[in-house]
Amino acid sequence: MTRNPEKVQQAAAEMLRHLGIDPLPAGMKNTPDRVARMWLELTAGYDLDPGALLKTSFDADGYDQMVVMRGIDFSSTCEHHLLPFIGRATVGYLPGEDGRVVGASKLARVVDCFARRFQIQERMTKQIADAVEECLNPRAVGVVLVAGHECMACRGVRKPRAEFVTSALRGAFRSDPSARAEFLAFHHHGRQS
Ligand code: ZN
Repeated sequence: MTRNPEKVQQAAAEMLRHLGIDPLPAGMKNTPDRVARMWLELTAGYDLDPGALLKTSFDADGYDQMVVMRGIDFSSTCEHHLLPFIGRATVGYLPGEDGRVVGASKLARVVDCFARRFQIQERMTKQIADAVEECLNPRAVGVVLVAGHECMACRGVRKPRAEFVTSALRGAFRSDPSARAEFLAFHHHGRQS
C-alpha cells in the first residue's frame, strides 16, 4: 500500500479551495498538513498484520474457561462519509483443545488494527472475529461492538445518541445457548451507559 503524505496534504488544500476557502486564513495555514498527518494516523491499521499481533500465544496451565476483554475503546472511520464512529468492543473466546491463549493487550491491539482503517462496523466486527479464530482455533469466539456514528449525529438523520450494535458469535457462542448467555452477560456487565 503506497502512502504519499505530500499528495494528501495537497489534496486537503485543494478540497478547501474548492469549498471556497481561498486563500486560507492565517489560522488554517497549517491545516492541510495537519489533515494529512491525521489521515495517516487514522489509517495506520493498514500497515499492521493482525496475524502477527496474535502470533505469540501461550499455554495457560490448563485454563479452559472463557476469556473476555471488554470495554475496549476504539475510534474508527466510516468509509461512506469519512467521519468517525467511536465505541467500545468486547472480544472473547473459549480456548481450543490445545489450551492456547493470547496476552490480554493483544485483543485490544487487534481491535485497533482494524479500527484504524476505513470501515463499516459490520465488517470490522467480522474481521476481529476472523483474526481470533484463525490464530487461536478456539472453541468459540465472540465480538460485540457498540458505537455512535458521527455521520448519523452531525448530519443526515441527526440522531446523536443512537448506538449501533453489531456482533459476531462463532462456535459454541453460536450453538450453545448457555455459553452464549455467559459471554453476553460478561459483555453487558461491562457496560457503562
Ligand atoms: Zn457514515
